[in-house]
Amino acid sequence: MVPVTAPSIPDGAVWVSGHQIRAVGPYSEIREMTPDPVTDLGEVAVFPGLVNAHAHFDYTDMAGLLVPPREFPDWIKGILTLKSQWTDAEFEESWLRGAREQLESGTTTVANIETRAHQLAGLRARTPLRVFSFLEMTGIRSGRDPGQIVAEAVEVLKSLPPNRGGVGLSPHAPYSTSPELLRAVAALAREEGWRVTCHVAESEPEFDMFMYRRGSLFSWLQNQRPNDDCGLGSPVQLVHRHGLLDSPLLAVHVNCLWGDDARRLAARGASVVHCPRSHAYFGHPRFQRETLTEAGVPICLGTDSLASTRVAREGPTTLSLIDELRELASRDPGLLPRRMLAEVTVNPARALGLKSVVGELRSGALADFLVIPHAGSTASVEETLVHHRGPVAATMIGGRWEWIAPGWAGVLAGSSNLDVDSRP
Ligand SMILES: [Zn+2]
Repeated sequence: MVPVTAPSIPDGAVWVSGHQIRAVGPYSEIREMTPDPVTDLGEVAVFPGLVNAHAHFDYTDMAGLLVPPREFPDWIKGILTLKSQWTDAEFEESWLRGAREQLESGTTTVANIETRAHQLAGLRARTPLRVFSFLEMTGIRSGRDPGQIVAEAVEVLKSLPPNRGGVGLSPHAPYSTSPELLRAVAALAREEGWRVTCHVAESEPEFDMFMYRRGSLFSWLQNQRPNDDCGLGSPVQLVHRHGLLDSPLLAVHVNCLWGDDARRLAARGASVVHCPRSHAYFGHPRFQRETLTEAGVPICLGTDSLASTRVAREGPTTLSLIDELRELASRDPGLLPRRMLAEVTVNPARALGLKSVVGELRSGALADFLVIPHAGSTASVEETLVHHRGPVAATMIGGRWEWIAPGWAGVLAGSSNLDVDSRP
């Protein structure tokens, strides 16, 4: 058992009652607590279900369709063209594939960016995942009134039937939105208590646009949006100026920092989401993990989308946080697996307002787990997760097995009471 917030437990067990964890501990102790039948999972490790701090399910089927661009704006132009050619049915299939791949790779909670407002209720009803739907807003190309964009977002989000997840707001990025829209979103978030996520300081062209009024993004957009907010400071300063740091922002990417940006984010309780495979695909400036960490900014990992993920040479390319962990480990070999684990569990849980609820195995938390084969000691268990390939053995959400890999159904057959035991 890997509780994450407590030392790993060899020969461990978890007692599940309804949709929650009743107790986690050594098998001998848990056995004493309950007369319920026990399921012996054999030589496995049980982790909390992973928490993905940034995804775009609807672009899953775009894997391999866009080559890594020479200039960042070229990729944006490419995806805008692709999106304009896709039907509702294609987006639906793509969204559902993304959700399925997350489930099969052990993610149970996702901060997902939603662009299909009219399909959203139906899509959310078709996955057992805890999906936090952050509605995307832009408004630059359409030239629509920010007040109207925000009013429509309220209508969409409030009409969604309640489910396991939640909702939030996603003004896309400083360059694709207007200052008026960012201020309206910040005010709405304060009013409704909704969380906000935004792509911030992702690329050098974005940084150059807001710092220096120059570069490829500035040139491309200068006739498409007013540019009186360019040349005033960094993208982080911009989102601060327009109120987006008033509530705990999930700032996605943040590859370009300037001055006291990191301290500014930390002081306002923001979290930064790093997406290792997307970062490698674009060849962005080096992610400044040390600067952010030293300032006290929690780092979370996200998958971003498969539209900005290089197609894997070995095996299929899937939307998987475990694949992100492996990419991160290959780029930053000095990073401790235990620290990486926090970035896909407790850190994003806190960023979504779910501290002690998901992302750890503890009494009272939701019964969300992933199971992978592991025959070694507890000392190497995080490494086993980082280097795991393909689907996990099983995923439980809210006390129900929602994914069982081929070959594992027999092992779990006796778990009608949903107890899981990792006794060797
Ligand atoms: Zn993104």
